[in-house]
Amino acid sequence: KFLDDYKHLHQNNGGDKKRIAIFGGGLSGLACAKYLVDAGHEPTLYEARDILGGKVAAWQDEDGDYIETGLHIFFGAYPNIHNLFQELGIEDRLSWAPHRMTFAMQELPGEFTTFDFPAGIPAPFNMAAAILRNTQMLTLEEKIRMVPALLPMLLEGQSFIDAQDEKSVLQFMTEYSMPARINEEIFIAMGKALDFIDPDKLSMTVVLTAMNRFINEADGSQTAFLDGNPPERLCQVRCLGFANLVVHFCCSLKLILSCQPIKEWVESKGGRVVCSSPVLEIELNEVDNTVKSLKLANGTTVTADYYVSAVPVDVLKRLIPTQWSTNPYFRQLDELEGIPVINIQLWFDRKLNSVDGLCFSRSPLLSVYADMSNNCEEYADENRSMLELVFAPCCPEAGASINWIAKTDSEIVDATMKELERLFPTEVGPNASTERRANLVKSTVVRVPRSVYAATPGRNKFRPSQVSPIYNFVMAGDYASQKYLGSMEGAVLSGKLAAEVICDKAMERSNRNGLKEVHSSFKGAVLKERPP
Ligand code: FAD
Repeated sequence: KFLDDYKHLHQNNGGDKKRIAIFGGGLSGLACAKYLVDAGHEPTLYEARDILGGKVAAWQDEDGDYIETGLHIFFGAYPNIHNLFQELGIEDRLSWAPHRMTFAMQELPGEFTTFDFPAGIPAPFNMAAAILRNTQMLTLEEKIRMVPALLPMLLEGQSFIDAQDEKSVLQFMTEYSMPARINEEIFIAMGKALDFIDPDKLSMTVVLTAMNRFINEADGSQTAFLDGNPPERLCQVRCLGFANLVVHFCCSLKLILSCQPIKEWVESKGGRVVCSSPVLEIELNEVDNTVKSLKLANGTTVTADYYVSAVPVDVLKRLIPTQWSTNPYFRQLDELEGIPVINIQLWFDRKLNSVDGLCFSRSPLLSVYADMSNNCEEYADENRSMLELVFAPCCPEAGASINWIAKTDSEIVDATMKELERLFPTEVGPNASTERRANLVKSTVVRVPRSVYAATPGRNKFRPSQVSPIYNFVMAGDYASQKYLGSMEGAVLSGKLAAEVICDKAMERSNRNGLKEVHSSFKGAVLKERPP
């Protein structure tokens, strides 16, 4: 809404076009560029890799199959993502599954249980109905004993949720006398899915934030998959080689013709998106330590009116100039660190019938998985399954007993296949009959050693505001302060908020969120936003 008003004001007053250099071409950087061109400015986005998307990036192997960085699920409770899709005219690219959550039954291999949200019933009653109607996971007594813990969230809302950030999920459960089985049945699956961490290491704020959205929005927990590979379907149209073009053309004329994603949007309105251009250094003005320029790996120097960081927190920490390093705003970033996660894709020689939509595995190694040959139009195959699985937790700090992130691809695939033998005994492994057995044809393993910030207890207070103490430097990225967690929704919102900060600066008015106070454990330097 702000950006719409701003656009109007800017155009009517013949406002100044500001030049903005954004570094980082994930969803936060792309969203920031999109909202800046919408508001009449001139952003240029510099992405280190030859492909856009960051954690949603994907690329093709020699067979033309897409290898994804991560299995990505869109929730109904992602308002900023849905607005973005609508604005780009690509909302039909999300394929919505029936409103249900599917959990693998721990004690009954090969069986699943679902929470079915009845249509036409408003929140929170549809969720209550879904929980009450499922009799396989929790007893009625256990369900009733959840209520006292969830009641304050319903009554007090976000302030209660934020106040739980210092506690782990298990500490919160003890405080509210929640039965341990709720952890085993629900919270382990949620923790692994939301932040790739086990509940004893995870902040309760993460679980409550998701539950709050799911309870308050009728379609909040409904899930969707993108209809194809994210870089092309959401971020950019790639330059296709002739061979690829033919394959694409034959396979899916519709996919090529209907591409109109973020890069094209930005460039059609006077912005630029430049790949293969890592930023190596942030150079400062000697007088006031504001940003003078960005030094790129190819030796060029980029100057702009404002600079936006949209790189992951671990990258930014390495780029912080020495002159800023003692400032508490930047020092607090040491408290944030990306958590490792592994994404696996397995191609089988036949269809697996046990898996369909998104499934919470509740197994020790796996978080969520889906058969993408059924759920993604571009990857559709009537005869063979392609399972995409998130392997988490995958390091001891996140709760794993083995440091999987350091293991070889074959060790990771072998362990996953062992797990699948247990989950689908009739279809995978030596106990499956020859008529039904699905054999592994091909596999890929993508390690993300530093993915979303690890939402361990007490991290929220160190998430930096989009406004920084440096006048011409603004912060985006899913880890930056916004009410959603490290997620696609959080990334898009943070990019939008960063665009809003720049629009405010361009109009010389103060930002509604302003500079977030740094927690008292980072006393030392005076925090004041400096004038240009
Ligand atoms: P990034 O995507 O990390 O983008 C940062 C960009 O900066 C990258 O493109 C990087 O190449 C670039 N960069 C780095 N260094 C430089 C430099 N020096 N100069 C220029 N550019 C640089 N979220 C959901 O909502 N739902 C899900 O189901 C989900 N599943 C996930 C599964 C996995 C396996 C992973 C890893 C993440 C998942 N997420 C999910 C989280 C989601 O992908 C991220 O929160 C979001 O994409 C982060 O966007 P971002 O722009 O903040 O950062």
